[in-house]
Amino acid sequence: MDNTAVTVTAIREVGPNAIALDVETPADFDAAPGQFVKLVLTVDDEEYSRFYTISSPTVEETFELTVGIDPGGDVTPLLSSLSPGDDIVVSGPYGNAYYEGETQGCLVAGGPGIGPAIGIAERILADGGTTAVVYRDDEPIHEDRLAAVEADGAFVAVLEESESLSTAVNSALATLEGDIGDVQLFVYGFAAFLDDAMTAIEAAGGEYDRAKVENFG
Ligand SMILES: Cc1cc2nc3c(=O)[nH]c(=O)nc-3n(C[C@H](O)[C@H](O)[C@H](O)COP(=O)(O)OP(=O)(O)OC[C@H]3O[C@@H](n4cnc5c(N)ncnc54)[C@H](O)[C@@H]3O)c2cc1C
Repeated sequence: MDNTAVTVTAIREVGPNAIALDVETPADFDAAPGQFVKLVLTVDDEEYSRFYTISSPTVEETFELTVGIDPGGDVTPLLSSLSPGDDIVVSGPYGNAYYEGETQGCLVAGGPGIGPAIGIAERILADGGTTAVVYRDDEPIHEDRLAAVEADGAFVAVLEESESLSTAVNSALATLEGDIGDVQLFVYGFAAFLDDAMTAIEAAGGEYDRAKVENFG
């Protein structure tokens, strides 16, 4: 889908400095959680493009984007001031690190990377699979959805920056059935988090090369 104006249907605070935007799904748009869209915003005749990853389990009627607000950023403070009924311009979907019907998924996320991770965990559970979520963030977001997937049987670990990612990834992988090679790893977050996740996954006996990884920059 090329640049298309879509209407914001809801905007929610989902934790400290974080919002979820629900936007109307255009007729020709189909996507899975973990794919991302490009959002184009024009401010004072200047055009800004940023990418945001789908964080709802499906894109029926609406889809959700989870945005970490950077108070010093050019675009995210503007997104937090949107209201239902406003239009934003998006294109996509893009990317290759998304849910493709895997029955066992281990989600490893940092910061706003928990958006696609929770969307995929919800989708795996809805489709009858098993899942585990390891999430590192000193100010966690989407806590209600994390509690809900945990209540539905998922392993969930929410870590502070100082805690060991490899211990949690190890515990997460141990809760999933079968051979470690049967589990699809998904990793979402900014570059420094991905480095830590790679070390943790390899220390836990997982293959980072086989993981579906999205680098937020
Ligand atoms: C594939 C992909 C998927 C993504 N998915 C998500 C997602 O789902 N959720 C999400 O929240 N983010 C996601 N991102 C990141 C997102 O696209 C933006 O980069 C992010 O939201 C910051 O945008 P911004 O305009 O607010 O900040 P920017 O203006 O880009 O600034 C970022 C930081 O850099 C600083 N900075 C800017 N310019 C300078 C400069 N010249 N010198 C020094 N410092 C500077 C700012 O102060 C700010 O702290 C994704 C990125 C990619 C590539």
